[in-house]
Amino acid sequence: MERERSQRRHFIKNVSLATGGLLMGMPTAFAASDTKAPLIETPFHGAVLNHRHGKNVADGMIVRVAGQADAGEKVMVNGQPTRRQGKAFEADVILRQKETPITAVASDSAGKTKQHAIRVVWDRYSRPRYGFASDDNSFFLRDIAQKKPKSLFDCFYLKILRDLNKKYGTKFAVNIYYTTGDDFSLPNFPDRYKGEWRDNSDWLRLAFHAHANDPPRPYQDVPAEILIADLDKVDEQILRFAGKEAYSPPTNMHYAMTRPSAWRPLYERGVRVLSGYFCPNGKGSYDINYCMDDTRSAYLWKKDVLMDFDSGIVFTKDDIICNSEPVEKIVPLLEPLTRDAYSAEVMNLLTHEQYFWPFYKGYLPDHAQRLDTAIRFITEKGYEPVFLHEGFLGGKEPDAAG
Ligand SMILES: [Zn+2]
Repeated sequence: MERERSQRRHFIKNVSLATGGLLMGMPTAFAASDTKAPLIETPFHGAVLNHRHGKNVADGMIVRVAGQADAGEKVMVNGQPTRRQGKAFEADVILRQKETPITAVASDSAGKTKQHAIRVVWDRYSRPRYGFASDDNSFFLRDIAQKKPKSLFDCFYLKILRDLNKKYGTKFAVNIYYTTGDDFSLPNFPDRYKGEWRDNSDWLRLAFHAHANDPPRPYQDVPAEILIADLDKVDEQILRFAGKEAYSPPTNMHYAMTRPSAWRPLYERGVRVLSGYFCPNGKGSYDINYCMDDTRSAYLWKKDVLMDFDSGIVFTKDDIICNSEPVEKIVPLLEPLTRDAYSAEVMNLLTHEQYFWPFYKGYLPDHAQRLDTAIRFITEKGYEPVFLHEGFLGGKEPDAAG
């Protein structure tokens, strides 16, 4: 009972802080003042923290909170005094639930206060895990619709995925287009394989990717309604020909570009994770980032995972694009990621279907070997195959009972 009461107190505290949600993430002044508000530098607002970021204690994890404030001011973090050295402040905070608000309040000699409030996520049950997404799919569906083989796996592409599943247990999210053009659209795909889709749905799922391969960046500059209408059209077809067991909400949008105003509508369609490259472009800003602001994109570029509290979506950086990496570069690219506290727990592997097809201009004869090399390496490192949209990034929900 006492535990219940204390959880309720936590809840009330969170709600009152959440009402200031608009202020979250940026330092704000309570009262007019010439001095600057304190700045929490680490952790970052929206950071997803796991056992590698702190010290586990009974029913919680201690994390270090550090930042900067005017040297003469008194700084409290979540109501506790901080250690000061010059402008730096530092404190320990115990995370006890999935989301924890962290507030630094600085008081000057006149008693004026300023604050910086952030929130972090504790992935308390985190274990090393990986998801595999194949993007830009449509050729294999056209091939099967035209040839009508006895089994889905008579198509060499799906057989490659099944062989990898048999060897390593890999779960594949296959992200599909509505159409390849005049010669094929999803309504042409027969429902005669529904049983086979269902029987393999523990490792093979279909999800929306875009209406078609062209134009590039189809959802970058369009209202959310257009994206959602395309999503609904593809979802309807997946449910018709493959059934609900084989259906997955999307985790990868074509070009990883949408308006931020589409994030919440996507959440309402079941999206929990969005993957992208979050890479700097030549002009010094970020791209392939769902049009996220540069500050958070820069964080994702280095730190891999970030919660957007407004939409409820966790963003995650693609760790490898198999079609872009020669076989000999795959392990040297992945190995350092398995040692970094931020990137080590969730591995996000990606490739693109078209590179499997000999008629495609960028055909890669060793594409299957690239997948095998990446998956074998992380399997040997102890990563478990998951679907990233399930649970929390494929792991147990942090607020589930222990
Ligand atoms: Zn794409």
